[in-house]
Amino acid sequence: MRLRNIPGAKESLQQHPSIIIPNPSENKGNWKAVFGNDNPIHVEVGTGKGQFLIGMSKLHPNVNFIGIEKYDSVLVRALEQAKEEERPNLKFLNEDVEDILTFFEKAEIERIFINFTDPWPKNRHEKRRLTYKGFLDMYKQILVKNGEIHFKTDNQGLFEYSLESFSGYGMTLHHVSLDLHRSGMEGNVMTEYEQKFSRKGMRIYRCEAKFRA
Ligand code: SAM
Repeated sequence: MRLRNIPGAKESLQQHPSIIIPNPSENKGNWKAVFGNDNPIHVEVGTGKGQFLIGMSKLHPNVNFIGIEKYDSVLVRALEQAKEEERPNLKFLNEDVEDILTFFEKAEIERIFINFTDPWPKNRHEKRRLTYKGFLDMYKQILVKNGEIHFKTDNQGLFEYSLESFSGYGMTLHHVSLDLHRSGMEGNVMTEYEQKFSRKGMRIYRCEAKFRA
């Protein structure tokens, strides 16, 4: 992904600690208290500019959402939108997904979304793909029993790789779609990348994968 450095981004994020949670490891095991309720928690890894989670948080007020994005110059765009109408069920972390086990306790999360993640097409970069088995190991630990991953991408190669990775891990696959926007799915919230690719007429692939107990 091409990244434009935005001067002052880090400082802007730090000025809004109710939306961009600082030191998330301090809340490990305690996220329900952060949100002030017992509602389920859904996490998006590689959240980008936040369009998906902002839309989801409006559509599902009884679910708590946390987006993880490692680049401050990207996350600051999510902050600009989120602070216009601050929602109690939406928080972001300016962190690397590699460290996800330090943010969440075992079985603290109900669902993980992975949307249009970088495909890392070279074999030697396989371990960086957010659907690589090393990441699945971590997701399984923080998800509840039978926790789910909901995955969308425009990239056929990454989709095929991820289906194999999920099923190779013993997960069950559900609602596999090779053309999401013609599948009749209701309640789909588009991400920034999804909007961009679908405007170009590209197909969107989607699936849900469930860990077995
Ligand atoms: N999910 C958004 C969408 O669908 O529009 C953004 C997609 S963009 C291609 C992928 C995003 O994931 C980038 O903003 C990138 O910085 C972020 N990302 C990739 N690897 C990450 C990691 N290990 N930890 C946190 N963010 C990551």
